[in-house]
Amino acid sequence: VSPHRFDAVVLREYGAPEVLKLEHFEREWPSPGNALVRILATTVNNVDVQLRSGRLGTHRTLPHAPGPDMVGEVLESPDPSWVGKRVIVNPSSGCGRCHWCAAGARNRCKSFQIIGEGAIWGGYSSLVDCAVANLIEVPASLPTEIAACLPVTFGTAWRMLVGQAQVTPNDRVLVFGAGGGIAVAARRIARLLGAEVHVAARPSNKLDRVAAEGFTVWPVNLEELGGLPKKLRAAGDITVVVDAAGGDWFSTGLRILAPGGRLVTCGATTNPMANIDVRHIFWKQTSAMGATGGTSGELIHVLALAARGVLVPEIDRCLPIREAVAAHKAIEEGDVFGKIVLTWS
Ligand SMILES: [Zn+2]
Repeated sequence: VSPHRFDAVVLREYGAPEVLKLEHFEREWPSPGNALVRILATTVNNVDVQLRSGRLGTHRTLPHAPGPDMVGEVLESPDPSWVGKRVIVNPSSGCGRCHWCAAGARNRCKSFQIIGEGAIWGGYSSLVDCAVANLIEVPASLPTEIAACLPVTFGTAWRMLVGQAQVTPNDRVLVFGAGGGIAVAARRIARLLGAEVHVAARPSNKLDRVAAEGFTVWPVNLEELGGLPKKLRAAGDITVVVDAAGGDWFSTGLRILAPGGRLVTCGATTNPMANIDVRHIFWKQTSAMGATGGTSGELIHVLALAARGVLVPEIDRCLPIREAVAAHKAIEEGDVFGKIVLTWS
């Protein structure tokens, strides 16, 4: 182990986008048994914005480098066959010893944390120190910028629709949201699975772009959410609802579901508390399911489908990482359709 000098965009306090600063560091990495990855690209996820602002809690040791999306090149590894390989890092980190970790489901481990969101530095650092088990090789034909968009949003959405809700061509899926990373991934995966896909979101030119992709859209303001279940039921049974907003969106999703339907959630960007009528669960025999990131097996599927061009993420823009502040501002202003990629090269 030798000291490595590297750059990282870190926060030393929680707050506005301007708290993100590019600094130099020196660390004796990799940790014993770990690999060291030189990061090529990361992205801005909602979780990065929430972390930076302090909304995910203020328990981390600062400075901290966010960025659960990571594509890079392996510099050092106890297994030398990884060295030089272009990889994504599965951001789900576990103890590596329990039965969940052994089964590949690190996102159920008691020590589960998301790299970049928990204590471990993510892709806003140009070097990442991670377990070898988290490395996944990127297919040669898949551009780095596209691979960077996949781990958090497509990995999570794949877990939601395939692993949890088990969507089939017989499903009519409703996705809440138009331009957010999870919304884009969920509707494109649901369509790939053969389901009929509907999208409900606040009226905007983003929803027009969703309609142009061929999805059935339902413009709805927050104050009109109460009327949405009736309108949608007239269009047919909604058997799966995909939600990342929480609050009134989550409770409306449960009301919309047809008997036997499944609501699957991966976030609470508007409100973690939802007022639900339990009759919508027992009388209709519905289920509410959660997802936190994909397993490495699921990420390998997603990478392969992206390499074939069957699954395509939406890239809003690519920026050098020194423009992380501007990228966070754009996300907060809602001025984004799809992902902002931050590159280290
Ligand atoms: Zn474990």
